[in-house]
Amino acid sequence: MEFSTKCLQAGYEPGNGGPRQIPIYQNTTWYFDSAEHQAKIFNLEEAGYFYSRLSNPTCDAVAARLAALEGGAAAVLTSSGQAASFYSVFNICQAGDHLICAHQVYGGTYNLFAVTLPKMGIEVSFVDADAPLEELKKEIRPNTKAIFGETLSNPSLKVLDIEKFAALADAAGAPLIVDNTFPTPFNCRPIEHGADIVVHSTTKYLDGHGAQLGGVIIDSGKFDWAAQGDKYAGLTQPDPSYHGLVFTDHFGQEAAYVYKLVTWLFRDLGAPSSPQNAFILGMNIESLPVRIERHIENAQAVAEWLDADSRIASVNYSGLEGDDQHVLASKYFDHAGGCGVISFELSGEYDNAVRFLDGLKVARIATHVADARTCVLHPASTTHRQLSDAQRAEAGVAPTLVRISVGIEDVRDLIADLDQALEGAFS
Ligand SMILES: *Cc1c(COP(=O)(O)O)cnc(C)c1O
Repeated sequence: MEFSTKCLQAGYEPGNGGPRQIPIYQNTTWYFDSAEHQAKIFNLEEAGYFYSRLSNPTCDAVAARLAALEGGAAAVLTSSGQAASFYSVFNICQAGDHLICAHQVYGGTYNLFAVTLPKMGIEVSFVDADAPLEELKKEIRPNTKAIFGETLSNPSLKVLDIEKFAALADAAGAPLIVDNTFPTPFNCRPIEHGADIVVHSTTKYLDGHGAQLGGVIIDSGKFDWAAQGDKYAGLTQPDPSYHGLVFTDHFGQEAAYVYKLVTWLFRDLGAPSSPQNAFILGMNIESLPVRIERHIENAQAVAEWLDADSRIASVNYSGLEGDDQHVLASKYFDHAGGCGVISFELSGEYDNAVRFLDGLKVARIATHVADARTCVLHPASTTHRQLSDAQRAEAGVAPTLVRISVGIEDVRDLIADLDQALEGAFS
């Protein structure tokens, strides 16, 4: 099946007379004829459902659809993108372990790794993603359990050199985990370039309508856990909470990581997707290719228009040929623009930017990106408000920086709106 067909058909095969769409299994509980049958499922001797904290057919169908889109072997939906990022590493790390993470990542991921994981005894080294491989290799330690990066970083719009990071992961004998939220599998499939595990905030383009919060973790099935000796003992050594079951033996290399996550982290910590959210996500993925194509087409037109306007000091969009990310973006993305998100600086001062935002009528101010409706944000007065001027400069947030997530409205309305708001901002 081609990509667009998979968006509509993968992950769910209706039975004769069954629902044509993925149905919502809103129930928490399943019925069994015998105690013995139920016990076998509890013991992981037989596949089946017994409680929706661990697994649910609606969630499984949508996860399987996403695995097909990313070219993965197994996948699981979580209650948020944050839960997906956390579980993707906590499934294989514990106190005393170490991670390497590219500096250019989403703020929530940065705080999770810089503040929260250290409280659990997991150390994270942040590295400059632009550094040469030989420099990056110096960060590897014997206890380095995973390498983490973002294909197109939110909000700094840096493209990850996935092959370089895959080589770093190889040298560390650890999996490369990549957050592919912004490009979506429509535009970039990190597993094809050597990533082992892919995570998403499905809250963004995969849903695309601001209608559900969710995450997904997709395992390529290609990482050979057993080849790393005792390093990933949770997957390769007998598990006392399941009568000595060895996950890689019982479920195979392709499914061990996802089964471990479900039967351990969901069992003990919770945070699976709700079936209702999975249903909404599955439905909205059906239109993903049509939506993302329009997002990119509109963003390209807006970026070119901004770039040519004298009231704009600079524009970051990897679809522009002069953009410093254009070469990497052309290598890894089917469409160099990546997605609909652009950042730009107005000429003038902080006040001009504030007046510009206040003057917008079609594009709306929102703490959200990757939505069908165009949203804008002025980081200096919102997300980066608490920082000093010097700290803001260090974070690359200029007083007139604006992030715009271009939606799928008619682009003529968007450009007319930007034009009138700029006029107001400088009059
Ligand atoms: C939003 C976002 C997250 C966090 O996802 P939530 O669904 O909000 O928990 C993680 N990574 C990236 C790149 C994001 O944009």
